[in-house]
Amino acid sequence: MTSSPPRATPTTPSAAAAALPEADFAPLLMSYVQLSGDIQALDAYARYIQGPWNYMECTPPEEKARLRARLMRVLAELASGERAMPAAPSGELLERMLSACVGQPVPAEYGPLICHEMGFAGAAPLEVTWRKRPAPEVLNAFRVLVIGAGESGIGAGIKLKAMGIPFVIVEKSAGVGGTWRDNKYPGCGVDTPNHFYQFSFEPNPDWSRHFALSDEVQQYLETCAVKYGLMPHIRFGSEVLAARYDAPSATWKVTTRQSGCDEDSRYNAVICAVGQLNQPFVPPIDGLAGFAGPQFHTARWDANVDLAGRRVAMIGTGASGMQTGPSIADRVAQLTIFQRSPHWAVHNPNYHAGVPAGKKWALRHLPHYAQWTRFQLFWASADGLYESLKVDPDWSQPALSLNATNHAFRERLIEHITRETGGDPALLAKTVPSYPPYGKRMLRDNYWYRMLTRANVELVTDAIDHVGADTVVTRDGRTHRADVLILATGFQAKRMTWPIEIAGINGRTLASLWGEDDPRAYLGITVPGFPNFFLMYGPNTNLAHGGSAIFHSECQVRYALLALRELIETGAAALDCRQDVHDAFNDRVDTLHAGLVWSHPGVGSWYKNRRGRVFATSPWRLLDYWNMTRTLDPSDYHFTMPSAGAARA
Ligand code: NAP
Repeated sequence: MTSSPPRATPTTPSAAAAALPEADFAPLLMSYVQLSGDIQALDAYARYIQGPWNYMECTPPEEKARLRARLMRVLAELASGERAMPAAPSGELLERMLSACVGQPVPAEYGPLICHEMGFAGAAPLEVTWRKRPAPEVLNAFRVLVIGAGESGIGAGIKLKAMGIPFVIVEKSAGVGGTWRDNKYPGCGVDTPNHFYQFSFEPNPDWSRHFALSDEVQQYLETCAVKYGLMPHIRFGSEVLAARYDAPSATWKVTTRQSGCDEDSRYNAVICAVGQLNQPFVPPIDGLAGFAGPQFHTARWDANVDLAGRRVAMIGTGASGMQTGPSIADRVAQLTIFQRSPHWAVHNPNYHAGVPAGKKWALRHLPHYAQWTRFQLFWASADGLYESLKVDPDWSQPALSLNATNHAFRERLIEHITRETGGDPALLAKTVPSYPPYGKRMLRDNYWYRMLTRANVELVTDAIDHVGADTVVTRDGRTHRADVLILATGFQAKRMTWPIEIAGINGRTLASLWGEDDPRAYLGITVPGFPNFFLMYGPNTNLAHGGSAIFHSECQVRYALLALRELIETGAAALDCRQDVHDAFNDRVDTLHAGLVWSHPGVGSWYKNRRGRVFATSPWRLLDYWNMTRTLDPSDYHFTMPSAGAARA
């Protein structure tokens, strides 16, 4: 989106007239104001926009029709040449438009981020470009390995290619898409709105839903990989076993296995884009292996198992369980769900909704509409919540909530659960968490509570004692019969980058440095002793309060490219994060987390390690992280110049 200029000529007037009633009103108003310069309309209509989601706007229908008619006239004048395309709004007008579009004041400090990300005020997207273009032989002697062809691996590949830096992507499976390729359980989909959960430079006006299902997201990523010419760079079916740094040559020796054969190659830099959530976690429950029927993890769904009419037991009620349960409940004979602790889940009216044809048309054809839509969703899922996730030390109910705003949200969530369960006290007792909202990942209600009221669904909250051949037995002595066992039990996030052996200077491995569960990195990206090695979706970069993982990965890719540019332009062989910089950063992470919801003592989650340290989740506002990763300070790194005779990889 940010790279393409607004299209001045929407298809035909009749197409526009048919489409516009289905376009969301706030971005449509912004498009009109931007095209017409009619500031009075902004003042007249802004009061109807009360929040950043499309359902938070209450403009009377006749007023909307009037505005659409005015927009149609402006479009016709632009098409006929009677009117010129006005300059992009900036300064005070842009600020007013930003706040009006989301029905909330947008602080000035967000201006640069928004302008770059959304392409407003004529700002170009933040691209890393050469300050001094290297000679072809210099560039060609430099090789980067990207591990993984998931979302961030594809994002990294696209940007490496744009800079002309040679690279290979090694992908252990047979296709691109990473988590969206692996996760095919029924109902699997994204819970960040898609018009934000997409690359900033590759908007898709054709998402079928506001929150697309897994296949569509995978298809999008595949389309990007093809469109940007990545396929010839990807080695499918090749698994990285180890990456070992060789200090004398300042290269990474990488061992891959393909079709049973191991091969070593050398690279100047490695971008590790394997993510935090790719190794399924199978809980150590007694007797699990002796279950006689089919059993599988949600991330390894066995589509050959027909669930119709079967008794299904599902362990786990996180994001994957929340999507799976309601998607299978109506076809199984019995669904018994084993919940260790409840999650909070919020209702979003768009969650199951398709994108109407008129909105798709506007995203594609109406100048500026797509940018304003992206901005709305950015704001809806960005830092607006952040303050409410801070602990108020004087708060009177610290076990249940963090502060007044968080408590009010808690009450609204409970009202929703009460409505959906028909007020059933037994279900309420099981489903209302005892910890503050956002302590674990906030889920989107996928008709979960409604599902729990079905006659063929039981929510079991007693701890599991053991699993038998066709039973799950709980500690209260009850036996629950099952033909099929589904493990919705999450991932081994603590063992980040596992099972790849990554050995830095002096052979020190990441696994030994981090121990069982304490991964740390500077900005979540670089680790002292691991020169020219960059993590994507590394420690403390998981987004738990909002945002889009793609937005975040673009920040990380940008930073890694800044580092590579620094290396290539200066002719340095290696850059290695300074220990004191890394440590100071992690101290700040821990200090921030101490006052945020994810450290709450009443919550157990995959974000925390055994000692209660939050290692997975970012404590920063999106704005802070964007600012921290938009530039690279060379003084944060030790540089090694090449020794005489040492060559590029
Ligand atoms: P998860 O959030 O870690 O949930 C795992 C579930 O298994 C939890 O309910 C957990 O209980 C339960 N569990 C684990 N060990 C257990 C045991 N020994 N006995 C009983 N229950 C046990 O995993 P997930 O649902 O796969 O989600 C992981 C992350 O993936 C999410 O947080 C999200 O970041 C991502 N995700 C995103 C989407 C999306 O965008 N739509 C969809 C799926 C996943 P406790 O809660 O008590 O630990």
